[in-house]
Amino acid sequence: MVNDCIFCRIIQGEAPAEFMYKNDSLVVFKDIHPHAPVHLLIVSKKHIRSINDIDMKDGGIVSEMILAGKLMAKRTKITESGYKLLFNVERGGGQVIFHLHLHLLGGWK
Ligand code: AMP
Ligand code: ZN
Repeated sequence: MVNDCIFCRIIQGEAPAEFMYKNDSLVVFKDIHPHAPVHLLIVSKKHIRSINDIDMKDGGIVSEMILAGKLMAKRTKITESGYKLLFNVERGGGQVIFHLHLHLLGGWK
């Protein structure tokens, strides 16, 4: 838990979010400024800054996040139409919240 991290605060229930899914290692909630008809954030419960800070001991969380993305695609009925799973990494990669998260984007006609 990092006090000035908005995603840590959401995970702790100290800031609001529209949760879609939770398990022991991650949560999924709606992006507040959606860039697609379906735009969900798959967020590790552990505060990890970015993909740059992942090593083998954290490897499991990345595959869990991708599998959660696939599950949420199914639940939001975009499996067949298709979707993007996206990690922005550090400022040059478009990351603005420095707590590991995977974007699920889809639902275009
Ligand atoms: P990134 O650019 O990969 O760091 O993405 C951060 C995403 O978090 C952006 O798409 C924001 O719209 C989203 N976001 C920021 N604050 C919140 C919040 N309080 N609840 C939900 N989504 C948020
Ligand atoms: Zn955090």
